Amino acid sequence: MAHDAVLALNAGSSSVKFALFAVAAGEGLTRVAHGQIEGIGSAPHLLARDPAGGVLEERRFAAAATHEDLLGILIDFVTGHLGGRALAAIGHRVVHGGTRFHRPERVTAEVLEALDALAPLAPLHQPHNLAPIRAIAATRPAVPQVACFDTGFHHTMPALATSFALPHAMTEAGIRRYGFHGLSYEFIARRLRVLAPRLAAGRVIVAHLGNGASLCAMAGGRSVDTTMGFTALDGLMMGTRSGSLDPGVVLHLIAQRGMTAAAVEDLLYHRCGLLGVSGISNDMRTLLDSDDPLAAAAVDLFVFRIGREAGALASSLGGLDGFVFTAGIGEHAAPVRAAVCARLGWLGVRLDPAANARGEGLISAADSPVAVWVVPTDEEAMIARHTLETLQG
Ligand code: ADP
Repeated sequence: MAHDAVLALNAGSSSVKFALFAVAAGEGLTRVAHGQIEGIGSAPHLLARDPAGGVLEERRFAAAATHEDLLGILIDFVTGHLGGRALAAIGHRVVHGGTRFHRPERVTAEVLEALDALAPLAPLHQPHNLAPIRAIAATRPAVPQVACFDTGFHHTMPALATSFALPHAMTEAGIRRYGFHGLSYEFIARRLRVLAPRLAAGRVIVAHLGNGASLCAMAGGRSVDTTMGFTALDGLMMGTRSGSLDPGVVLHLIAQRGMTAAAVEDLLYHRCGLLGVSGISNDMRTLLDSDDPLAAAAVDLFVFRIGREAGALASSLGGLDGFVFTAGIGEHAAPVRAAVCARLGWLGVRLDPAANARGEGLISAADSPVAVWVVPTDEEAMIARHTLETLQG
């Protein structure tokens, strides 16, 4: 595989993120380029960068450009930057693996059909994840493709953590908690084994705080509980998603306010969370910079909900040895980290304010019973690594 390259794709409804990796002699992976096409359907914009952040390519396209057109352009860009390497495989982030797919899977027609059948479990994401796989299978059938699942890392959760208190037949039919952000959590679990091996063997809560946000309780590096459930709506308050909500609210919106299922879906996914509460923005930077009381109220609720859910996960773990912050807000928003840690003082969390301001590595005080870390995540690197490992069997 040395002298080959692996492409990682993360395709959503209006964007495709990508990262290209060279396979080094020891089978390690080195990032060659990364970027995204955003604004698909409105104002498509390709931006590709080198590992140092320098712009390799920037292009804008007509609104009429389709997902398929733009994917073709992206693959052409990648092909032009292989630097003499062969494209050995393409790995994809696929949100749902259901109960069958725990491990990354080489895509065949049969696998693709099985993944299609899971679309009703993630109607806003799964079809967009699968479309590029199908397009590449048609245009470049010789390139192996690997599907990597956001649910996979959580297959170690015990039945108590995956069950709703619904009639047993419904649980058996797949209406249960799956958990998401698994590629990010797996990346962090592997990093922690290198950065802090003793902690990695213990009881750790990882907080993936990006536009989507969730917590994962890990015991010895394995998921035992998480805040997202049947869908990526559950758990924490997010950029535009409500997080956990009394199901009675949904019934009220439908029965008393006459909202359709589609209108409720749009509300809960796109108009709640930081955006809905503040009425200003879903962007944490904007809210932290604002002196509007509703911006502060949104940040306070975001932090409160993290503290509340972290308490629940600490119970699932039977105690806490470490807490890890990751993703956009977790990696960059020091005031949010400080406020979360203040709420977790009762669990033994003591922050080192200067280390928190620097914002990388260990940020807890030397005498803190709970170690607190900031560890940058890299879902694309996890996809590429899985892809290589799957090909090597
Ligand atoms: P996605 O889930 O889309 O991958 P990210 O992990 O990139 O999201 O996180 C996006 C969030 O991170 C946004 O709310 C953004 O405001 C926040 N963020 C990024 N940089 C900073 C920063 N320097 N300070 C505070 N928040 C930040």
